Amino acid sequence: MPVPTHRPDDSDRSSTPPQNVGRAAVAELQHCDDLTRATTPLASDRLIDGHGRVHRSLRISVTDRCNIRCFYCMPEEDVSFVAHDEVLTFEEIARVVSILAAVGIRDVRLTGGEPLVRRDLPKLVEMLSQIEGVEDLAMTTNAILLPRFAAPLREAGLKRLNISLDTLNEATFRRITRRAGIGRVLDGIDAAIAAGFESIRLNALAIRDLTEAEITPLVEFATSRSLTMRFIEYMPLDAERRWDRSQVLSGEEILARLRARFGELRPVAPPQESQPARDFELVDVAADATGRLPRVGLIRPVTAPFCGACDRLRLTADGTIRNCLFSQREWGLKRLLRDGHSDAELLRQVRAAVAAKELGHLISRPGFVQPERSMFQIGG
Ligand code: SAM
Ligand code: SF4
Repeated sequence: MPVPTHRPDDSDRSSTPPQNVGRAAVAELQHCDDLTRATTPLASDRLIDGHGRVHRSLRISVTDRCNIRCFYCMPEEDVSFVAHDEVLTFEEIARVVSILAAVGIRDVRLTGGEPLVRRDLPKLVEMLSQIEGVEDLAMTTNAILLPRFAAPLREAGLKRLNISLDTLNEATFRRITRRAGIGRVLDGIDAAIAAGFESIRLNALAIRDLTEAEITPLVEFATSRSLTMRFIEYMPLDAERRWDRSQVLSGEEILARLRARFGELRPVAPPQESQPARDFELVDVAADATGRLPRVGLIRPVTAPFCGACDRLRLTADGTIRNCLFSQREWGLKRLLRDGHSDAELLRQVRAAVAAKELGHLISRPGFVQPERSMFQIGG
């Protein structure tokens, strides 16, 4: 099936704030005109949606391109990518981040597509690491290019890495990614460990009839390297639109398998309520050399949604703001960036996106409609 292509026309969604922006928001819009870049924004400056959620996190897709073709994300062939000149430049991305850091965005994560196929990525990391207010700078990657980039990224100021690792088995890797080369991923993980990041987490998508047998070997692999292994439920964001609820290997099923193999799992209190993962310590497994018990985590967007504590916004590679992975709307920034609009006007557009944020996604409700863009086009 051909990929549903999406060429966002900024003009259709960007120029007018939605009608439901209330009086308070209008007052804030006026306040924006006096925008100053304070490190600690006033409460009224922060990005607060209609449900009281304060936004602190920004996921930036730096490209929709990728060096593999995971079936749950991209089409196998005939992928339609955003034209190079429609992708935000590093300067444009840094400008957006600096505007948003002034109103409370603290955590920035680079993603894609595969972020490491974007040329000179360490340069962007360096630019973002110098922006006042940005406290955490992280990246999600498939690790294939980490042997080349792990050290330069760390030197440029990248603090944390999430690495996607669904399997240790070459045949399963090929079935998932439609490419060869699990060895390249494992080399990338070794390079990341050697580069000394503040934290490295491994994430695996859990898919029924495909990755059940991977669960315990992945945990053993992670544990042997003192890394946390997290399992993510499969969401309806695949480009080929073949997702079916029956393929979702639920968090509960994963926990049952982990208990059967590793014994007691003790829940760990999350450092932040907004953290989507719920971690557990493997109490019956030997601690590592630092005395730390091995940990596993679950991210359960399908069976235990965490929307109530969501603090995220997304910036797509072609410069639109999305307030949710499952949003049916986008708010364009690219035209504003390229047509000489002020920081206040850009912020007004972002506030419109925040104001329109729904309370939660509707994956489990009848009539759920998968968004037009799929994971690689949004930024996971
Ligand atoms: N290419 C990088 C990677 O794979 O880590 C970054 C982008 S990828 C879209 C980010 C994350 O989204 C990966 O961990 C991937 O497993 C996850 N992902 C992709 N499609 C998904 C889906 N349909 N449901 C749940 N997670 C998905
Ligand atoms: Fe590429 Fe990541 Fe999507 Fe896999 S999940 S196809 S690695 S962007």
